[in-house]
Amino acid sequence: MSSLASCIFCKIIKGEIPCFKLIETETVLAFMDIGPIAKGHCLVIPKYHAAKLADLPEDQMGDILPALTKIAKASGYEDYNILQNNGRPAHQEVDHVHFHYIPKPAGAGDKAGLVVGWPIQGLSKEDIQKAYDELKGKL
Ligand code: AMP
Ligand code: ZN
Repeated sequence: MSSLASCIFCKIIKGEIPCFKLIETETVLAFMDIGPIAKGHCLVIPKYHAAKLADLPEDQMGDILPALTKIAKASGYEDYNILQNNGRPAHQEVDHVHFHYIPKPAGAGDKAGLVVGWPIQGLSKEDIQKAYDELKGKL
């Protein structure tokens, strides 16, 4: 896990590393992804350094969804994914919270944009009830 000092996204926020800046607010920065999986792939990040979403204070979240929505409207793509990865097994490479805006170009199939695996577990209603009870009890 990278610390604030070595974090590549914190360096972008501080202007120490260049980026293709799209939107900046008091709490949020949006810029083009440097390794896009589709044309127009970009990132929205909080300026606050937190590795995972659950580490991010609620008062730092307010501008994220509006920025993503603004980008989605401006990009003009009919289809797109918003992706937010947490942890290496969940495909997180940069340990600073970030939201991907990933266009899914028409007809791209598996060739561009997000390609998703969806391993349905076939859990029973009882299993779902158990998971519900556990989670609901902690909320
Ligand atoms: P993730 O796998 O969710 O952690 O995604 C990290 C994303 O950050 C990848 O899509 C990278 O291409 C992107 N990325 C890494 N370094 C930079 C950078 N300096 N500028 C823009 N995007 C970056
Ligand atoms: Zn950071």
